[in-house]
Amino acid sequence: MDTKLDPARDDLPLMANTSHMLVKHYVLDLDVDSESRVIEGTIVLFFGDGNRFKTQAVSSQDTIQMESEKDYTFRTTEPCHVPKMDASTFSPQMGYNECAVCGKGDQDAFDNDGNHDNRECDSEISSSKYCCDTGNHGREDFLLVLDCCDLSVLKVEEVDVAAVPGLERFTKAPKLAATPEKLRRDIVRDLVALPADAWREQFDWYARCSQAPGCGELFFDTDSWSLRIRRTGAQTAADFPHAIRIWYKTKPEGQSVTWTSDQDGRPCVYTMGSPINNRALFPCQEPPVAMSTWQATVRAAASFVVLMSGENSAKPTPLREGWMSWHYYVTMPMPASTFTIAVGSWIEVKPKTSPSDELVIEHPLLPAKADFRYAETCSHVEYPCRFQDASAATQEIIPHRVFAPLCLEGACQEALLCLVPPCLSAAHSVLGTHPFSRLDILIVPANFPSLGMASPHIIFLSQSTLTGMSHLCGTRLCHEIAHAWFGLAIGARDWTEEWLSEGFATHLEDVFWAEAQQLPPHEALEQQELRACLRWHRLQDELRNSPEEMQMLRPNKEDTGHVSSSGASVVKHGLNPEKGFMQVHYLKGYFLLRFLARTLGKETYFSFLRKFVHLFHGQLILSQDFLQMLLESIPEDKRLGLTVENIICDWLECSGIPKQALREEQEAEDCKRSGLAGRVGSEVAKWIRLNRRPRKRKRGKPEAAFEKLSPDQIVLLLECLLEQKALSPQTLQRLQQTYRLQEQDAEVRHRWCELVIKHKYTRAYEQVTRFLQEDQAMGVYLYGELMVGEDARQQQLAHRCFELVKEHMDRASAQVVSEMLF
Ligand SMILES: [Zn+2]
Repeated sequence: MDTKLDPARDDLPLMANTSHMLVKHYVLDLDVDSESRVIEGTIVLFFGDGNRFKTQAVSSQDTIQMESEKDYTFRTTEPCHVPKMDASTFSPQMGYNECAVCGKGDQDAFDNDGNHDNRECDSEISSSKYCCDTGNHGREDFLLVLDCCDLSVLKVEEVDVAAVPGLERFTKAPKLAATPEKLRRDIVRDLVALPADAWREQFDWYARCSQAPGCGELFFDTDSWSLRIRRTGAQTAADFPHAIRIWYKTKPEGQSVTWTSDQDGRPCVYTMGSPINNRALFPCQEPPVAMSTWQATVRAAASFVVLMSGENSAKPTPLREGWMSWHYYVTMPMPASTFTIAVGSWIEVKPKTSPSDELVIEHPLLPAKADFRYAETCSHVEYPCRFQDASAATQEIIPHRVFAPLCLEGACQEALLCLVPPCLSAAHSVLGTHPFSRLDILIVPANFPSLGMASPHIIFLSQSTLTGMSHLCGTRLCHEIAHAWFGLAIGARDWTEEWLSEGFATHLEDVFWAEAQQLPPHEALEQQELRACLRWHRLQDELRNSPEEMQMLRPNKEDTGHVSSSGASVVKHGLNPEKGFMQVHYLKGYFLLRFLARTLGKETYFSFLRKFVHLFHGQLILSQDFLQMLLESIPEDKRLGLTVENIICDWLECSGIPKQALREEQEAEDCKRSGLAGRVGSEVAKWIRLNRRPRKRKRGKPEAAFEKLSPDQIVLLLECLLEQKALSPQTLQRLQQTYRLQEQDAEVRHRWCELVIKHKYTRAYEQVTRFLQEDQAMGVYLYGELMVGEDARQQQLAHRCFELVKEHMDRASAQVVSEMLF
């Protein structure tokens, strides 16, 4: 039986049983070996009480819980790792015979909650002759389930936190009355509960504890989605060790980490926000509800820079010859999926000016334009929060650094460096306090599958943002900066509701970018209308070409945020490779927010948004949390008939386009007759006339003069011209020269490549080839265009380009492209 999930159909399982125990802190201690493409080391997990059970006493409720959790406990036939044996002695073949056994009766891959419970035998699983005998003690042992994929787990043990000298001072636990097991649990419970203002001591104790000796290995086994751990005799979560150490190695092919070369040809590795997040980087509790802090010590060869989600900008410590150690930490609890690491030979890009000038760039703490602080205290769990810090509240620009491969230093200096301060400042002027204290920006390798990705304290940007004028770079940077609020500081409780981060970031990027350029209001509005018009086209296109069930922003409907009794859940369509290429959540979410902002008035909407951020930062939300608070903040007579129910029904649980948005269609048409888009309309008409004209012009007739257009305008122009049946090579050549298309940003060049392919303009095929190599984040669609025309030369071009990049291409993209090609 093949129990592998079908990615085209299946949802992404989140297996961790967070109802029973919640990770509060991770301590990672890792070595990065770029030659073997392996990250190896230990992770120590410190647990607090589960999401469901706030008391540690074994209640009758707990017993009932145990009953319903049968699927998550060991069965007698199931093999599991035996302590004291070297995992490497198990050959991959050993486990296979047992597959038939443990697979039996598991044909139903869903438990009662509709959650995946796939049990696939993994080569890591040892032979069944070392079965755990769960039958000996009447009740079954509690099973800790962690999310884990493609990791070689070598050993799991309890950490003897009681052996750390001095730690007992912090604990209220009576030292003599308790058993050693209880003492260790009590120490961890007190440690994780230390108040926010003691975080330095707390993190120091976490670090010391992580170095403490082990005190008993724990049974474990792995399958394709999880690592399951138990201790003989520990029948409930309350009895289970609260500090455990896992020894493990990543696998080179693990989906969380991409091993590749940077643009200088030097090796590097980065996490890329794959659908499985960080499960192939470290075993963790994936459900967003498991919000934790972390610290990490990472060792790498001295030629590497280690960048990470960390609030400190780490300086490396020299170790043995040729090695450096980097230490980062984060004190704001966040889902483990937000953790990011990148290790490579990057350089920090500094301004071209001399170093002494840098002092000038320091920004004094000016009083903010408006007071964004509110009298109430924060609503999240306690942590050292910037929203409570008066000096943080007025900091318009947070400290930031830019990293890139050496060959892109100049491009970063020209295109990116000067944009960071105005974009950060714009974000602050719209939303107030930056949720994070500092920011690194890294130009990621060419195979990065999107234009950008935001994680706590670090933004990845594609090299595609560096070409052309500042427009694409600025808007994308604004988009990623917006994620600091929406996506990170305020997370989605159910990842299926992706629009909560992408819709907001898309809507805010325009607002931030207009502010960053200091555009006068009417110009800002014109620019935003033009971008709405472009997005409207894109959404139409997307809706025509995607299955209806993928067009819903809240496909789980009223079950959104639902988890099984253990805390496990699924992310709808989470494994569908097409999802990564779809923009419905971005676009439809954007149009919903645009609709709300326009209906309620910008002032009202943005002042509400600041209140919303203040109330919900540091927490997870569902769509209804936002909508409810929005409507409640508006007097009933001013709600214009809007209710939470009708917004959910019209916008979140429908495929296609909501009727309220249809006025956008009319406006998109109107837009083409006025403003920035209107000017595009008259240029399009000129080009069409030019194209119709006979080849030989009559002497003396003046050449058509074309207006200068912004990148967004050129995109619209090219999209309009794409609707033309035929454009002559002369027209295309003239088009290219007029707008210097090969020097424009990647959005413009993408449309240009589409035109080149559509009209078989062979003279520009070289530019398509270049695009497919240098702008891989955007090129996937072009492969399809090259193939559908059934033109031998174009198909050859597609095959040749894929041949050149496929080895390094992002896995999901490579899969989609190879389906188009073969
Ligand atoms: Zn706060």
